Amino acid sequence: MSLSFDPTTLHTDLFIDGAWRKATRGATFAVENPATNEIIAQVADGGPEDAALAIEAAGRAQAAWGKSTPRERADILRRAFDLVIANTDRLAAIMTAEMGKPLAEAKGEVAYGADMLRWFSEEAVRVGGDSTTSVDGNTRILISKEPVGPSVLVTPWNFPLAMGARKIAPAVAAGCTMVFKPAELTPLTSLALVDIFQQAGLPDGVLNVVTTASAAPVVENWTSSGIARKISFTGSTGVGKILLRQAAENVMRSSMELGGNAPFIVLADADIEKAVDGAMKAKMRNMGEACTAANRFFVHRSVLAEFSEKFSKKMSELRVGDGALDGTEVGPLIEQKGLDKVQSLVADAVSKGARVLTGGTRPEGPGYFYTPTVLTDVPLDADLMSTEIFGPVAAITPFDSEDEVLRVANDTDWGLVGYVFTENTGKAMRFSAELEVGMVGINTGLVSNPIAPFGGIKQSGLGREGGKIGIEEFLEYKYTAIAI
Ligand code: ADP
Repeated sequence: MSLSFDPTTLHTDLFIDGAWRKATRGATFAVENPATNEIIAQVADGGPEDAALAIEAAGRAQAAWGKSTPRERADILRRAFDLVIANTDRLAAIMTAEMGKPLAEAKGEVAYGADMLRWFSEEAVRVGGDSTTSVDGNTRILISKEPVGPSVLVTPWNFPLAMGARKIAPAVAAGCTMVFKPAELTPLTSLALVDIFQQAGLPDGVLNVVTTASAAPVVENWTSSGIARKISFTGSTGVGKILLRQAAENVMRSSMELGGNAPFIVLADADIEKAVDGAMKAKMRNMGEACTAANRFFVHRSVLAEFSEKFSKKMSELRVGDGALDGTEVGPLIEQKGLDKVQSLVADAVSKGARVLTGGTRPEGPGYFYTPTVLTDVPLDADLMSTEIFGPVAAITPFDSEDEVLRVANDTDWGLVGYVFTENTGKAMRFSAELEVGMVGINTGLVSNPIAPFGGIKQSGLGREGGKIGIEEFLEYKYTAIAI
């Protein structure tokens, strides 16, 4: 096994009220390396009884933590940032082992997650407030912001460090306590991050973590507790809807980062080199396992041949393998289920008339690998047009008119991100205005940025993470009327 961290130093227990502890039932579950199918660690399998201890600890800690000073919170976040940066190699190695992404990408994610901590350390001291006078001059109106309260954080496996950091950082900055459930496929990176927060001086009870192989009873314990005031979830739209229904019972504030079905549009006047470069990033970052991944490529017929040929060539040259090995550019998918899904989406598209330009195969040997694949002439009724592929498969469909491509691009329940390639500023602005999405990339295949508001519209979610608005998700407004 090629690990550059010492497996005996991994945290594998629950973290509740400032202490590491076994699951009450004593159960554990295995974490697998998706490149080798080897078991990396056994992690505590928490149940509802552990969830209850965690949310009670978060509830008890809220009053004091809510009164901590902005500077204290900023300093903790800043120390956590420094520690994450100092531990980049170790965190990246853990992430690659449990999730599969190549080490270079894992290091990129550590930098992105760390930047979230730094950004919110800077925002923590700038929450501010407002004051004004009523129009009749009789009342002074004082507007202050307060932490929303104990918050439930649930994260997916595809960005094991960044998804946690993107929720924990604004919650800490706002003065909220937390119960955190990382994805069962990738709990080790999250536990390492929690350890860093403890080292950074976060008080006991502020951040509690329950790992579990059975998410539903743990999270439901929290949403039904009456203690939690907020839920922040990143994951599939289906689970998001379940959690929104649960949140409705106790009228909890909700932030949801759900699925996407990103269009990647190459207009006739696009710079094809830029478009190919953007396509590689938008499709292949994280092996295509990202909600921001380009899911549908719409390419103007006049540039179809050039774009397809250059893009397919680059895709076919990518080195697929264990992400821990030097030179690997594409790691495995996370699990057999993901691999089966990708294979069946490709088979469906081909059965409906799509042609395979490169890839479309599954390498021999261990691990959940799939070859980078480009399909063309993909018909609009192919299942992958309305399903998140979550794998290294690019589906190209030619178009003739801009009105037509806008209509088709918007013909989806999702609205997270859209990518447009054009050298014409007017067209760029038109597409930016008319695409029904929360984020638009113009001549770029990468939109994630700690200082920008990340999030989607339609069934891609509610609320934003990052940017100036990110902290607002964890704050309530209180207004005091003072007679004058
Ligand atoms: P993905 O398809 O990316 O794995 P999921 O929505 O299934 O997305 O998972 C995202 C997170 O939601 C994970 O932490 C998972 O354990 C959790 N989860 C899955 N099902 C439920 C559920 N019924 N209730 C609460 N959390 C859940």
